[in-house]
Amino acid sequence: MRRLFEANRILETHWTRAVAEPFQAGGCLDCRGRTECPQLDWAIGITAEIAAVTFQKR
Ligand SMILES: [Zn+2]
Repeated sequence: MRRLFEANRILETHWTRAVAEPFQAGGCLDCRGRTECPQLDWAIGITAEIAAVTFQKR
């Protein structure tokens, strides 16, 4: 579950920044633009992966 926690933290950072300062690289060092960010891609991938596993168990 530690991966999910880290992924959530990254997602929160991005969503917050996207609203407040879309063009500023706030707490993310991987951001190179609004639509290009390896860290954000990773976080979304982890979230989707864990969500799929959770859904299967229920
Ligand atoms: Zn980023």
